[in-house]
Amino acid sequence: MPSDDSPFEQASAENSGRIADLQMGDRQQAVINCLKQITEPILKNNIVSLGMVRNLRVVDNYVYLRLYVGQHQHHLEEQIQSALSTLSWCKKAYIHICTIPGVKTTLAISSGKGGVGKSTVSVNLAVALSLQGAKVGLLDADVYGPNVPQMMGLGQTGVNILDTPNGQRFVPLEAHGIKLMSVGLLAEPDHPLAWRGPVLHKIVTQFIHEVAWGDLDYLLIDLPPGTGDAQITIVQESPICGVILVATPQQVAISDVRRSIYMFRQVGVPVLGIIENMSYLICEHCGEPTPIFGSGGGQQLATELYVPLLGQIPIDARICTGGDIGQPLTLTDPTSTVGRVFVQIAASLDATFDCTSTKRQK
Ligand code: ADP
Repeated sequence: MPSDDSPFEQASAENSGRIADLQMGDRQQAVINCLKQITEPILKNNIVSLGMVRNLRVVDNYVYLRLYVGQHQHHLEEQIQSALSTLSWCKKAYIHICTIPGVKTTLAISSGKGGVGKSTVSVNLAVALSLQGAKVGLLDADVYGPNVPQMMGLGQTGVNILDTPNGQRFVPLEAHGIKLMSVGLLAEPDHPLAWRGPVLHKIVTQFIHEVAWGDLDYLLIDLPPGTGDAQITIVQESPICGVILVATPQQVAISDVRRSIYMFRQVGVPVLGIIENMSYLICEHCGEPTPIFGSGGGQQLATELYVPLLGQIPIDARICTGGDIGQPLTLTDPTSTVGRVFVQIAASLDATFDCTSTKRQK
């Protein structure tokens, strides 16, 4: 993704009133204007448009805000303090840094509804990023259908707990060089995860804050489908740099994808783009692509919603069998059409977030 057509530029141009929950008092507006002068050097956009500033409140002469950043972006706090010190009325700014220890870039994979290939995309994208040389973690937070462990070849394995000076932490498992944690690992095999309300909130929050990931370039979060409680909690609690939406071509007329995009924009998280899954079928004999669910749907959605179309994944039976046996197709055949699309998406994401550049230079 060249920086000129950065997804952040498009999203921020379309949705300049992103911090929708703010009461725009004069002082609050002054703070936002001040913060908009601070540019994140890698992403080349201001920290407000990037969704890094949330829960902004001004009470009398004091500013309170949450700063959602990766491990390598803590320096922004100093810049904020210095920028806010130029406001004559501001006596003190209280900045609460929200981060996942050790993690640079957190990306979420979402879909308007289940069954469109969200987990398939999460797993294959994790592998593709790892093929770029990145250290990758995958958090399966799909409380309604946590099937990432199976897709990565992990059976029902116990989760170890580590005592640390900051409290107890889940130890992630590892498969194909990718660190993995899943809500499914906490459930009885074949039993539904019947968590609701506050319990769901607590477990989901624990999953975000209490996993000992170690150093990661990318953490991918496989979100539950839709725009329910669990999804909103995860999005609000985590320093997500951007969301990737998975849709199938026939979803173009259906409002669930649009609803998801509006939800992310409302909570201030940038939407990086759409991946169209099951775009076409390649004929086994002649290699001709057939768009069995219609064509142009993903592009139409992307244009309408001002987000890039990141890639189109064909229907390939090996995706299904690879998922069943825990061998993602991008790993077993990175030069297949499917593998190449995921590698290209991973390369463009990595060009945007620049997490592996120091490794490439070595
Ligand atoms: P979701 O996470 O959205 O519920 P999954 O990733 O679990 O969806 O995919 C649902 C089913 O569709 C799985 O059996 C998966 O193997 C299959 N599938 C997903 N994408 C493709 C594809 N491009 N070609 C063939 N099968 C696919």
